[in-house]
Amino acid sequence: MEEQCVTGWAARDSSGILSPYSFTIRKTGDEDVNLKVLYCGIDHTDLHQMRNEIHMSIYPLVPGHEIVGEVVELGSAVKKFKLGDLVGVGCIVGSCGDCSACMSNMEQYCRNRIFTTNGIHKDGKRTQGGFSTAMVVHQKFVVRIPDKLSPEQAAPLLCAGVTAYSALRQFNDSDKILKAGILGLGGVGHVGVQIAKAMGHHVTVISSSDKKKVEALEHLGADDFLVSSNAAEMEGAAESLDYILDTVPAVHPLQLYLSLLKVIGKLLLVGVAPKPLQFESDDLILGKKSITGSFIGSMEETQEILEFWAEKGLKSMIEIVKADYLNEAFKRMEKNDVRYRFVFDVAGSNLN
Ligand code: NAP
Ligand code: ZN
Repeated sequence: MEEQCVTGWAARDSSGILSPYSFTIRKTGDEDVNLKVLYCGIDHTDLHQMRNEIHMSIYPLVPGHEIVGEVVELGSAVKKFKLGDLVGVGCIVGSCGDCSACMSNMEQYCRNRIFTTNGIHKDGKRTQGGFSTAMVVHQKFVVRIPDKLSPEQAAPLLCAGVTAYSALRQFNDSDKILKAGILGLGGVGHVGVQIAKAMGHHVTVISSSDKKKVEALEHLGADDFLVSSNAAEMEGAAESLDYILDTVPAVHPLQLYLSLLKVIGKLLLVGVAPKPLQFESDDLILGKKSITGSFIGSMEETQEILEFWAEKGLKSMIEIVKADYLNEAFKRMEKNDVRYRFVFDVAGSNLN
């Protein structure tokens, strides 16, 4: 296929409002997979990018990096997929291939990684995300969707799922029952709860209100629920957790959450705060505690979480939306009114 004209939905400026946009994508190279996009998960990072909250956005910007599609064309060197396969693409579509991160299967930390949205391809062309009819992606950055997973169910795993999985994987196969905290029950948090439970941990959700309590305990399988503004509840849980997966997309007081950790406990930051976060040195020193960060996961881990999710029979809670509802969906995400991931039905929206 020659260079292809596709239709997507793009933000034009930092208002972040999306509208239809046509652009071209490269022709399928020897190492490329050309896919028809079926579904695309909607992540809070899309909103950060559409609004230029990470201060790097170039417009028009087509968001979307939890992409599930069907293979429609393959480059001559691609042997691991066949036409019609269901495949996934996540946050990155390229890396240098020879730095230490790339050589140790951690290409997400390559300094020359190419983001799926708002990045620059090796040929100088801008990358545009999965809110569009088709994509051409190098085979290294394409994963196989297991037969047991439906395409819309698989979508949230390609960013939210692998982000939680990569951060928590270090605690898999622990010989004791770890006490886990999941801070913020949104897209990443709700898969985090299920992954931690499937790893055998005792899971406490820490949320900004009690609105999600019943769902967390009854549908997602959490063992406990704390409301962060309830001082007595928080005090009662002091020094009780081995780790906390922090998914909050806003400035929040770390001290409060560090106090929940046991000695040598870890705060795993994955939520992106638009301004610096603060803590007192004593909050760490007096308990040998640590704060670490984690960014999505490798391609290997992305394949792993898909298999893990299918094998354990887990289910993401999603709300499927069409193109005409996208702007409303982002408004609702901003108001913390998502249970727990919007998934954009791209193929069903007849974008052409
Ligand atoms: P989301 O669906 O909006 O969920 C975030 C959750 O955090 C909300 O559901 C809410 O849970 C809580 N929250 C929201 N605003 C808050 C505030 N002002 N104070 C305290 N809690 C608040 O977002 P998401 O898609 O899960 O993404 C979460 C964050 O992770 C975003 O910043 C995103 O950019 C980032 N992210 C990072 C990576 C990575 O690789 N590190 C990957 C994916 C996403 P409660 O109602 O329970 O309080
Ligand atoms: Zn590299």
